[in-house]
Amino acid sequence: QSEPAVKVSTSRTECPYCSVQCTMNLHEEQTIRVSRYSISPNKADPVTEGRLCVKGLQAHTHAVDDRRLRYPMRRLLGRLSPVSWDDALQQIKERFEALKETYGPDSVGVYGGGSLTNEESYLLGKFARVALQTRYIDYNGRFCMSAAAGASNLTFGVDRGLTNPLSEVPLAKCIILAGTNLAECQPTIMQYFRKARQEGCKIIVIDPRETATCSIADLHLKVRPGYDAALVNGMLKVLIEEGYTDPEFIERRTSGYSELAEHISKVSLTEVAELTDIAPELITEAARMYGRAETGLVFTARGVEQHASGVANVRNFLNMVLVTGKIGKPGCGYGAVTGQANGQGGREHGQKADQLPGYRMIEHPEHRAYIASVWGVPEEELPRKGVSAYEMMEAIDRGEIKGLLILGSNPVVSNPNAQLVEKALRKLEFLVVIDLFESETARLAHLVLPGSAYLEDEGTITQLEGRVMVRRAVKPLPGKARLDWRILCDIADAMGKGAFFRYRNAEEIFNELRIASKGGKADYYGMTYDRLERQHGMFWPCPEKGHPGTPRMFGESFGHDDGLARFAAVEHQQPKEGTSGKYPYLLTTGRVLQHYLSGVQTRNTPELNSKYPEPMMEIHPDTAGAIGLVNGGQAQVTSRRGSIRLKVKLSSKIRQDTVFVPFHWGGEQCINRLTHHALDPVSRMPEFKVCSVAILPG
Ligand code: SF4
Repeated sequence: QSEPAVKVSTSRTECPYCSVQCTMNLHEEQTIRVSRYSISPNKADPVTEGRLCVKGLQAHTHAVDDRRLRYPMRRLLGRLSPVSWDDALQQIKERFEALKETYGPDSVGVYGGGSLTNEESYLLGKFARVALQTRYIDYNGRFCMSAAAGASNLTFGVDRGLTNPLSEVPLAKCIILAGTNLAECQPTIMQYFRKARQEGCKIIVIDPRETATCSIADLHLKVRPGYDAALVNGMLKVLIEEGYTDPEFIERRTSGYSELAEHISKVSLTEVAELTDIAPELITEAARMYGRAETGLVFTARGVEQHASGVANVRNFLNMVLVTGKIGKPGCGYGAVTGQANGQGGREHGQKADQLPGYRMIEHPEHRAYIASVWGVPEEELPRKGVSAYEMMEAIDRGEIKGLLILGSNPVVSNPNAQLVEKALRKLEFLVVIDLFESETARLAHLVLPGSAYLEDEGTITQLEGRVMVRRAVKPLPGKARLDWRILCDIADAMGKGAFFRYRNAEEIFNELRIASKGGKADYYGMTYDRLERQHGMFWPCPEKGHPGTPRMFGESFGHDDGLARFAAVEHQQPKEGTSGKYPYLLTTGRVLQHYLSGVQTRNTPELNSKYPEPMMEIHPDTAGAIGLVNGGQAQVTSRRGSIRLKVKLSSKIRQDTVFVPFHWGGEQCINRLTHHALDPVSRMPEFKVCSVAILPG
């Protein structure tokens, strides 16, 4: 029998997992000896109206788990042993300074994450450039949003994930969901799409698998993995040749249309059908559905974006938006559905190798000068552009980076070609990992620091709509754990740079971020914690204190200097690996409902892990039969980079030439040991979503 509660309290918080950032109530029942926690939905949440998915309902579990890291731990003779914070900070100072002195400032690097708050993302960028003075900083968001961001920047001149608020989804008369499985990845926003459908909207899903999202589809195009741009070329042909374009919009708001039209005139629908494995009639039907609709929204996610041609793929979808003039109006626009909790804000404030806060560019002289003045450092001391996340791993492998600090990320699970990543990290002379648990990456670290869970942390998150929300701390830190932003300040202090990192709370960091972002494309200057809390968040850009924020983008002009959007003629590119006699199947990867990213939090949540305890390879029954696999049996899956054993799950919902494996596990079950590390030339997004594999009973 459980002890009676002596104190009961309820606090408002936000789910730490996906980009919807559902708000919820954390209930704490204190007894004499323990605290019991539970979560209930917040019915007053204007975005989710009180919906939570299974992850949200268990979101407290990992944060209050006894296995959380509670003390700094130093590796001695292969084992981690507790040390004091003073010792840990002294060691970081000595080791990083020695590496910088011996090998130069760029011999140390920083690797961040897309679940950090805006304040921590901002601070991490400043920490790398001011405290460590290294050009090497990047983060796992490179694998999340970089292709869509690159495409939006090139086409629209600015990158905000959703150009319209979710409340406008029901206004759309046609919606294209390309490579996005909302039903499992962002389940609580499915309601908007169901409502749209009730109002007569046609929904087209483009995906090699018949995912749970197809339950709301009027048309499902089961495209061959890696052929999205070809499919859109076919749809553009129908849109242009059947007169579904908006000439007035094209003339007034865009440039480059004639080059696109010329390119599309040479596209053959028969060839597109052969490449994509979609019948010409279905391509035509899809294009007509979108072309005829008065209003329309196009959404893409990682299925389209995680390719070595990710930017080109997304740009072609944006071509479709522009030729039909379906943007900048109610129910008309584009959305890149962010995956990570702060996938949007995490990429705006300087964690990327080429960016400074507010989407300023690190190689732009005026941008450098402005940020240097905000930070109080000489512009010439600001490091130059570094390299992307996976390229940092390659630089480590080559011995160019000798020391690394990782905050809130698990790169040995989440990078492509994960075996190289593990090999590289083992070569580091000094690896510091700040995390909640002893993740696969923390197991390689020389020093592990206990960071903060979302319930203990304070700061802002910019969810998928571009809405900035404040998250307050609602429980104390366990043991000697510290707030992530505080740890960065403490390290900076130990390294003699404390004067640049004097903050009493997250709000003070935010107020500096506001100034740093002022005049940039992601302008937060007009936001304050007070305004954000009173209004359930605000949409950027918000350039002045009285500004209402910008729920819908591009009503009058785009982000380029001339105000025009840019068309791009997109040539279809073959995936880097096609099938061959030795590797006859295509592998694609993604998420399952119960898990988040590399699984550090959700694999440590028994209620979630028990429902989906290991990765399973989804394969068509006919394909499995031909190989000799049975449901629940084991298969050996091998690519040119590695080989792992997986449990078999038969599903007639996947293409016969393709298998699907979720990416939330490490070690011998890490599917990223097989994925391809070819990179997009613009965004440096790896080709996670397609590579060729051999499959044997195993
Ligand atoms: Fe909401 Fe996403 Fe959390 Fe589910 S995982 S409760 S959809 S924020």
